Amino acid sequence: MRIGIGYDSHRLIPGRKLIIGGVEIPFERGLLGHSDGDVLLHAIADSILGALGFGDIGKHFPDTDPKWKDASSIAILRQVVEIANTGGFDISWIDSVIIAERPRLAPYMELMKDAISSAGIQRGLISIKAKTNEQMGAIGKGEGMAAYAVCLLVKSRAGELF
Ligand code: MG
Repeated sequence: MRIGIGYDSHRLIPGRKLIIGGVEIPFERGLLGHSDGDVLLHAIADSILGALGFGDIGKHFPDTDPKWKDASSIAILRQVVEIANTGGFDISWIDSVIIAERPRLAPYMELMKDAISSAGIQRGLISIKAKTNEQMGAIGKGEGMAAYAVCLLVKSRAGELF
């Protein structure tokens, strides 16, 4: 078994769609990023790459590559899951936390799990939680959002990479 941790943060700006966990959420601002800025999916992808000892998404999906400009982070996560599967690893569990002052994210959790499952992770193996930052610091003032994720991988067969 292997564990990995992922962290990500993005600035909130006007004129962008807010996409978290692969779900578009009605809000007056969105997350700035080269891709869609999906802070949760980036943290999850980094937790998987971390468990593989395979760097992070900045290495595999560089923001200098026009291919990933405004790309759906579901596509990025799907590729990361494929890297794990090719290496002979199955995702055993993912736990995650989104830190956002507003909007309320609880109504979107099940939709996020549906979207993440479309990247190849079974929805029964995903936990998502949301917290505010109690109005403290930049995130508490609504300047941005952050997310943490941990992933447990189990090696279940011979793999090509490891
Ligand atoms: Mg990011």
